[in-house]
Amino acid sequence: MYKIVKKELLAPNIYLMNIEAPRVARSARPGQFVIVRLDEHGERVPLTISDYDAEQGWVTIVTQTVGYSTSKLCAMSEGDSLADFAGPLGCPSEFVHEEPEALRRRRILFVAGGVGTAPVYPQVKWLSERGVKADVIIGAKNKDTLILTDKMRAVAGEVFIATDDGSAGFHGMVTDLMRDLIDRQGKRYDEVIAIGPMIMMKFVARTTKEYGIRTIVSLNTLMVDGTGMCGACRVTVGGRTRFTCVEGPEFDGHEVDFDEAMRRQGMYKTIESRKARMAQE
Ligand code: NAD
Repeated sequence: MYKIVKKELLAPNIYLMNIEAPRVARSARPGQFVIVRLDEHGERVPLTISDYDAEQGWVTIVTQTVGYSTSKLCAMSEGDSLADFAGPLGCPSEFVHEEPEALRRRRILFVAGGVGTAPVYPQVKWLSERGVKADVIIGAKNKDTLILTDKMRAVAGEVFIATDDGSAGFHGMVTDLMRDLIDRQGKRYDEVIAIGPMIMMKFVARTTKEYGIRTIVSLNTLMVDGTGMCGACRVTVGGRTRFTCVEGPEFDGHEVDFDEAMRRQGMYKTIESRKARMAQE
């Protein structure tokens, strides 16, 4: 069993939890994910790792109440335990394999959208620990749904905020802010790493293509087994079928067929929202 050792409300319906999982904490790298099961009959929920501490033996997950299982997970308390916490799964971010010296020469911009800010944090932190200061755009619907801004500022170069309603930072989408940074403020980037809603990643990739900036995206597809067996997470990248769980979750954003990925992601939306209502009743 995997104990919830800390629970914190980050924003309405968004919770941070530290889970006691020493083995996962020891081997986790930025970019990887876990598959959680609340009890032995529970569905398998993939969640990107948001932080980890190998010495203290915990792993952080950030969950938004989206469906049945995430609503049930968010209702759990400190001291409760999860039946399964399988991981770390997927490939670590590409930069983990690179020499810090080479990384220090690269100007990296992260684009974090909503809850996608959580998996961006360990990547920026990992780079910071090796002397690489990356800039970060954090986008959210409004100031109340912004998460992890202070933690991000502690490890990033510059942090830029964008809200859809203008209640904090730049008024507009992350793509509008990206254009503003490049066109008006004269910022230059060699690489963009975008994590957030699929629609955001699609439009970030479309924008960076115009500027000729290499772009990595982290795909949050449907997943079942997480070991490349079931095929639920398949996506088309560069015309080839790829399995997000074992070959991803990060891919070249300019090569991903986002329209197909979004269609597949929405396959169970009706069932999901019906079950989510059941969990809240
Ligand atoms: P959100 O809907 O508030 O969107 C965040 C930001 O994305 C917006 O502020 C906006 O700037 C940008 N955005 C949205 N639509 C856009 C468009 N058409 N063009 C350009 N930019 C656009 O985010 P949310 O409500 O927190 O949604 C969370 C989503 O993130 C969920 O779908 C969740 O599954 C996903 N998620 C993904 C990962 C991952 O690994 N990719 C991890 C956690 C969460």
